[in-house]
Amino acid sequence: MQPLDPARAAPPPGEVWATATVRPGDNLSLIFKRENLSAKTLDLIMDSGPDSALLAKLRPGQKIQYQLTGGMLTALRLEPSHWEILEVRRVGETFESELRKTDVVTHVQKVTGTITDSLFMSGQRAGLTDPLIMELISIYAWDVDFALEVRVGDSFKVLYEEYFRDGKRVGVGPILAAEFANQGKSFRSVRFTSTDGHSDYYADSGMAMRKAFLRTPLNFTRISSTFSLGRRHPILNSIRAHRGVDYAAPQGTPIKAAGDGTVVYAGSKGGYGRTVILRHGSKYNTLYAHLSRYAGSLKPGDRVQQGKIIGYVGMSGLATGPHLHYEFQVAGVHRNPLTVDLPKAESISANQWERFQQQAAPLLAQLELSAPARESIVAMGETGTKGPFVH
Ligand SMILES: [Zn+2]
Repeated sequence: MQPLDPARAAPPPGEVWATATVRPGDNLSLIFKRENLSAKTLDLIMDSGPDSALLAKLRPGQKIQYQLTGGMLTALRLEPSHWEILEVRRVGETFESELRKTDVVTHVQKVTGTITDSLFMSGQRAGLTDPLIMELISIYAWDVDFALEVRVGDSFKVLYEEYFRDGKRVGVGPILAAEFANQGKSFRSVRFTSTDGHSDYYADSGMAMRKAFLRTPLNFTRISSTFSLGRRHPILNSIRAHRGVDYAAPQGTPIKAAGDGTVVYAGSKGGYGRTVILRHGSKYNTLYAHLSRYAGSLKPGDRVQQGKIIGYVGMSGLATGPHLHYEFQVAGVHRNPLTVDLPKAESISANQWERFQQQAAPLLAQLELSAPARESIVAMGETGTKGPFVH
């Protein structure tokens, strides 16, 4: 016979499952007190194995189920995610814990649509969730400027995972493959997970969708001023932050675009003089100041490739000598261009190529598969239909 849990005053007969909901600021100890369960039992549960650590990471709204047998706590269940169930069971005087997979079913969904207004509106009508639309934008942010370049008639295809449990959608997974047709140009991309477990998006050619940066956008003579959050300005003679790097170089030295991007500004900008600002992908901006002149007919909206000459070194604005003042922003925050972690853009390496083909080929085939009964071009006001492909 096992002893009764002494904390239960009036043990109900038989076996009962009760549910406790995690409140903000809760922990299992508070919940046990509230549910009138014994602290000694809690200690035994926390000692039940490495998986019991999940019980120390409760989130508000989670449900803890526990089983009472003759008033004694004999089992406890928690679903840390839709994918897992933690079950702790009494075995004699101790507890044992087990983390099991739930019966989540993965479907591969395909959605197609045509832009009739904005990508967001058209994407939503086609059945994409907002996070999926954001993901789509970030995959293509280096190739397509979604603010300036998306046109009515552009189209998209998106293959992604959805997770169902008991017939209900419990999650939307990553985009597996996508195609974006922008003004007649088509960009296909596919998600690839390398042997080291890192996932990223690649064109079907194996080129990374994310592009790289040049660390330094010109051939310079010396660095005349580094990045700092407070220095004495040589002309204004006051302490101010220097949110970039100054590269001294002869007047007229060509300045290159640090990465593939779009010109968002080309003009005079106070003390910066002639200035060019480029946007790269959805997260990065670079700024080039004190130019003597711009390259060719450079203007906002132009797309530039990494290495393309955008202007020439000068001393326009507040400058004591010819130099390039170069700034690098990540998500709107100035970072030191000399040390900032630059995104890598590695293409599929030779030793990953076969693995890439194995993953990419079936996904791209599924993306191209025409199944007119289950998908349709989305026109204004229509609801997109989606076809489930179970795998
Ligand atoms: Zn400067």
